Amino acid sequence: MFPIQRLRRNRNDERIRDLLAESRPDKSKMIMPVFVSEDAANPEPISGMKGIFRYPLSMIGEYCKKLDQSGLGGILLFGVPSRKDEIGSEAYNDNGVVQKAIREIKKSSKILIIADLCMCEYTSHGHCGILRGQNVDNDLTLDSYSKIALSYARAGVDVIAPSGMMDGQVYTIRKSLDSAGYTGIPIMSYSSKYASSLYGPFREAAGSTPSFGNRRSYQMDYRNSREAIRENSIDELEGADMLMVKPAIFYLDVIYRSRQSTNLPIAAYSVSGEYAMITSAVESGTLSEDFINEALTAPFRAGADILITYFAESYARTH
Ligand SMILES: [Zn+2]
Repeated sequence: MFPIQRLRRNRNDERIRDLLAESRPDKSKMIMPVFVSEDAANPEPISGMKGIFRYPLSMIGEYCKKLDQSGLGGILLFGVPSRKDEIGSEAYNDNGVVQKAIREIKKSSKILIIADLCMCEYTSHGHCGILRGQNVDNDLTLDSYSKIALSYARAGVDVIAPSGMMDGQVYTIRKSLDSAGYTGIPIMSYSSKYASSLYGPFREAAGSTPSFGNRRSYQMDYRNSREAIRENSIDELEGADMLMVKPAIFYLDVIYRSRQSTNLPIAAYSVSGEYAMITSAVESGTLSEDFINEALTAPFRAGADILITYFAESYARTH
C-alpha cells in the first residue's frame, strides 16, 4: 500500500473542493461601511474608492433597505456633519447626522445598524477627541464619548463601535449605557486599530484628516502584535462584546493571534486603502477578479467571525 495520502486526487472536482473548503466568504457575516452626509443632495463619489458614495439623509433609508434585501450582516455607519467645532459637539446632538440617519434607516428596514463612535469627523482639528494644547486629553474625551453613546442609543442604534482608541472608552460607554437602561446594546470595540497609511481614502470620505500631527499617540504601531493582544484583553475586561482588528489583509497574523487568545467574536475591518488597492489592481487587469474572493476569504481563514468590507455590497448582490 502506498504510504502517503494523495490529497491532490480531490482537487480536480470542484464539488469536492467546495465541500471541503474550510472557510469561505459569507455575506451574512459581512458588514458594509456606509457614509451619510448632512450636506449632500445627491450621492457623492469618493475619490480612490470606485462605487462607494456618501449618501444624503434623504436617500439613506432607501439605500440601506436595498442592502438589507441583499442579505448582508449589517452596516457600519459613519456621519459627515455640516458643522464642526473644537469639541465635536455635533457628535452628541440628538438631531445630528448619525442620529437622524438611524431613525431614517429604521423606518424602512430592519438592517443591523452598527454606529461608529468617534469625534474626528466632528472636530474642527480632525482629532479623535478633545484637545488640551496639541494633545488629545484622554479622560475629557471619555465624557464626550458617553454623551455620544447615549445619544445613539436614544436614536435606536443596534450596536455601538467606539473607534477613538482612548484608554477606558469601552468601560465608560458600557457604564453609561447600563445606567441609562440600555443594557442590551452591545459594544464592538476597535480594539486593535493600527496607525496605518491605508486609511487615506476613508479620511477623504469622512472629512476626518487631522489638521496637524497624527494619531500615532493613540493608534497602534504596525511593528507590534503582542500589543494588540494586550489591547484586546483590556477591552474584553472593560466589557466589549466583540473585538476588532483593523486593517485586515496586512494584519492576518494579528487576527490569528487574537483568535487564539480570546473567545469573543472578532471582526476584521478591511479598510479603504485595501479596497482601493484591490479594485485598482483588478480594474487595470493586473490581477484577475478572483483576487477579490481571495482577499475576502483570508480574514475568515485567519479566524475572523465578521468582515467589515467595502466589497460587502457588491459581493452580496452577486452571491
Ligand atoms: Zn477618530
